[in-house]
Amino acid sequence: MPDPSVPAEILFQGVELSRGALVVLRGIDLAVQSGETLVLVGRSGSGKSTVLKLVNRMLLPGKGRVIVRGTATDQWDAIQLRRQIGYVVQEVGLFPHMTVQRNVDLVPRLLAWESERSVGRAADVLRLVGLDPAVHAQRYPHELSGGQRQRVGVARALAADPPLLLMDEPFGALDPITRSEIQHEFRTIQRQLGKTIVLVTHDMAEAFLLATRIAVIDDGRLIAVDTPRNIAGHTHPAVRALLQPLVEVSAAIGTAEG
Ligand code: ADP
Ligand code: MG
Repeated sequence: MPDPSVPAEILFQGVELSRGALVVLRGIDLAVQSGETLVLVGRSGSGKSTVLKLVNRMLLPGKGRVIVRGTATDQWDAIQLRRQIGYVVQEVGLFPHMTVQRNVDLVPRLLAWESERSVGRAADVLRLVGLDPAVHAQRYPHELSGGQRQRVGVARALAADPPLLLMDEPFGALDPITRSEIQHEFRTIQRQLGKTIVLVTHDMAEAFLLATRIAVIDDGRLIAVDTPRNIAGHTHPAVRALLQPLVEVSAAIGTAEG
């Protein structure tokens, strides 16, 4: 559980955001503590990606403040802020004309690391996500499977060792078996690296597997922020609706076994 004596890594205070006439986020208050994995769930269009974009200053709030590592995002230089943050999106966004190596050590090279150090770092993070650099570093993105590309996306986000990771449906496009493998590897990485992570998914099973806390967003409002165990008992209709598929699967398995 969050310790109120430790300053939050990410703090939303009364955040509202509109896109034209559409109110996308309403009165969001949220504190993400150092080292936790907060998983943001909600149906499509509920505002999950918007929350992440407020953290890395791709968007600024209309009302309220987003404070990252002690400084409000409108006071952060966007480039400096994004150096604190690894950002992983579902579409991955690897550069097709660059090798895996070049894609992964992009940020270290931008930060003018020595070439030996950035190559070594790329190899380390590739191993961390389960790719052998000797096999994969010189390949191009089109020579990889979807799961391997997704791993490269995670490796790239980790390359410059940022303290924060924002992950927007990072495993969404994968088949269920590959997805499950990557989720389990991700848990190992989580334990090894102790990053502060905000991960968006619409998959409740993924949320239960990866979260220290789950935040449920519905139509731009945060309606619950709690541990997975406690979320399972929430009675809010929007929480129950998200849980319903899991309930149905476990009932069906129970029937099959019984
Ligand atoms: P989620 O990630 O939960 O699916 P988003 O945060 O992407 O939802 O979007 C929340 C709402 O904001 C949606 O109604 C969406 O249509 C709207 N929206 C998102 N991006 C834009 C944009 N660039 N311009 C206008 N409306 C947008
Ligand atoms: Mg989204």
